[in-house]
Amino acid sequence: MTLHITNTRLDDRPVTVTCDDGVITAISDPADAPAPQPDDDVLDATGTAAIPGLVNAHTHAAMTLFRSWAGDLQLQEWLTEHIWPAEARLTADDVYWGTRLACIEMLRSGTTQFTDMYWFPEAVARAATDAGIRATVGAPLLDVNNDAGLAGLRDSALASLDALTDAGPLIRPSLTPHAQYTVSLESLEWIAATAAERDLVVHIHFCETVREIDEWMATHDERPTTVLDRLGIIGERTVLAHSCVMAPEDYALVAERGATIATNPVSNLKLASGRIFPYATAAAAGVRIGLGTDGVSSNNSLDLLADVKTLALVSKHEAGDPTVLPAEEALAIATGQRSPLLGGAPIAVGARADLALVELDRPELTPGELTANLVYAASGAVVDSTVVAGEVRMRHRHIDGVDEVLAEVRNRAARIQAGT
Ligand SMILES: [Zn+2]
Repeated sequence: MTLHITNTRLDDRPVTVTCDDGVITAISDPADAPAPQPDDDVLDATGTAAIPGLVNAHTHAAMTLFRSWAGDLQLQEWLTEHIWPAEARLTADDVYWGTRLACIEMLRSGTTQFTDMYWFPEAVARAATDAGIRATVGAPLLDVNNDAGLAGLRDSALASLDALTDAGPLIRPSLTPHAQYTVSLESLEWIAATAAERDLVVHIHFCETVREIDEWMATHDERPTTVLDRLGIIGERTVLAHSCVMAPEDYALVAERGATIATNPVSNLKLASGRIFPYATAAAAGVRIGLGTDGVSSNNSLDLLADVKTLALVSKHEAGDPTVLPAEEALAIATGQRSPLLGGAPIAVGARADLALVELDRPELTPGELTANLVYAASGAVVDSTVVAGEVRMRHRHIDGVDEVLAEVRNRAARIQAGT
């Protein structure tokens, strides 16, 4: 399939972008662009600018089912009295429809890829494939509060991977230990070895709250980063979610190993958990950084163009320096360009055709420089069209099947929240 994105703008000049088999094959002056053939798709992108698709580095997509429910509570009360009991009632179909809603919200705000951790990963993969968005998926793995231990965790991890064998080209299976405090060290070691053997992404909540670190240090002689590094978890194929409660030497080690930290500023602010991610310290150490929303249950949206502003502002404030995290760098992080694992890249011939087309004739993008406006003034509402792997997944704000998804999620959320 060939796609011609005609009359958009790139680096402030008019261009036509041609995509074949999911890859950008030409960026041309509109007058010199390859002529569309009868079976080609043409997206008239007049009045837009093209930017790389946004990459959500950490989320739990199906938690759209819990949007704005049980909000404004303490983290432990929120989890133990509301979220966990409700999650125990979820079915694979609930997860499918919740993820479909998340995919609509992500595509509408220019996101083309997400890193997910949730139950029923085969349902997550099916929903992402049906929506046409890239996803790294895996079921949470835990063994500290059950009797099954490593054997049980291994069986459930391998079963999840088996269920994702034929998930399709947009899906990347992963191993997803829930957190360093909910998985035994022997299981973490097995996960690291299996991920290396099968070349899988490892995705883990890591060093998010002061409490979890205090409890860890009460029973261990070394910090979590040192221990998990020795087990082989901290490496180039690993996404560490949050990682805001770490020492400077931990960031240096994470940088040296090439692991990616997915920072989730809005979720951590809303739950008042952890502390502000010390971006300046991590960036100076050379850490690979991505931006996540975390689940909708604690954000309460999936709009990375909103969250990138928060990331920039809290990073400046934490460092006491307004020159920290300038707009261009913030947008590079939000588009996954600061981590090879996340795979974002500038728009160029040979790059994968994952793009967002933003409407330029909008008050929040007028006047001023586009990147600064996108980071500090815009929200996902400026996105007109979204392209994933060379296919138009939202065309002039239209996505097929939205009404059905909204109705399904409303009904299912009502049932789950009612406790039935
Ligand atoms: Zn999370």
